[in-house]
Amino acid sequence: MRRYRPMPTILLVEDNELSMDLMVRSLQREGYQTITACNGRDAVGLAGSDHPDLILMDLSIPEIDGWEATRRIKADPGTRAIPIIAVTAHAMEGDRRRALEAGCDDYDTKPANIPVLMTKIRRLLGQGGEAAAG
Ligand code: MN
Repeated sequence: MRRYRPMPTILLVEDNELSMDLMVRSLQREGYQTITACNGRDAVGLAGSDHPDLILMDLSIPEIDGWEATRRIKADPGTRAIPIIAVTAHAMEGDRRRALEAGCDDYDTKPANIPVLMTKIRRLLGQGGEAAAG
């Protein structure tokens, strides 16, 4: 008997409209459900209210930046288990270190290499080498 198992929901945090559109389409093509926020305040709010399975966090976002939003999400017992992948255009070692120090579980740079990013997402969601049952 097949059991219905909905695809994971990913919260995409991104303030650039074109990047947002591209990433939403890429995630939906992989079968993920998506919710979106374009600033850090909404990101923290949606993490708590909608409990996404994973968060893709642009670090340069208005109101509350991605580092601080990550710290708040990871400080809250209700949301700290949600994996966060930081995404930034600044491919600098300092950004990566700061992202991991803020509590991010992984890190990727923009423009995203979609297959590489999808592999990171699957790994953090525990969808690793699982083969679909026939
Ligand atoms: Mn940005």
